[in-house]
Amino acid sequence: MRILLVEDDVSLGDAVAAWLRLDGYAVDWLTRGDQAELALKTHQYDVALLDRGLPGQSGDAVLRALRAHGSSLPVLMITARDTVPDKIEGLDLGADDYLVKPFDLAELSARIRAAIRRHRQMPETFLKYGAVTIDPATKQAWVDDTLLVLTTREFSVLHALVLAKGRPQSRAQLEETLYGWNEEIESNAVEVHIHHLRRKLGSHRIRTLRQLGYALAP
Ligand code: CA
Repeated sequence: MRILLVEDDVSLGDAVAAWLRLDGYAVDWLTRGDQAELALKTHQYDVALLDRGLPGQSGDAVLRALRAHGSSLPVLMITARDTVPDKIEGLDLGADDYLVKPFDLAELSARIRAAIRRHRQMPETFLKYGAVTIDPATKQAWVDDTLLVLTTREFSVLHALVLAKGRPQSRAQLEETLYGWNEEIESNAVEVHIHHLRRKLGSHRIRTLRQLGYALAP
């Protein structure tokens, strides 16, 4: 899953980006509001975290433009303003949730997962496809009833495949869910993760569809 973070406070942005990467997300971090529009146009994100006070363009303006274009992308506003009218204003602009600084990083992760569930209209916290079940909150995965031991990135690949429900995911799509802009991608990283996943799940559970990518077997 890929997150756009727009936060001009460098120490906070750094901490949030590092936390979310450890949590298995690909994170693109911008410090200016006026850079966000292009990023949102050119990349497929699962969630955006928007600070309200930003140089270039305010978080409010970014959000307003996004909703004016009809996007339903889940957006969490992060802000130092904590009065009730401020929160109401942010939510009425089209924010899905609202976090007041300083916030707890584990709570941020839980709110991101909740926003994604609401957006995808999947109220259940466990996701299942075929014999595979995953829990995005604890990063645990099972095949039938057997718990798998996966690395964070292996989990992220499996998560993307479960969400795709048997539709193939190309190498480029999987790379987008794994790596942010300034992370170096080894050319065969996805193949390596798939190789390890097949070893752990059983090789027949992940199909290779020529020209199309990888898909979970039903
Ligand atoms: Ca700010």
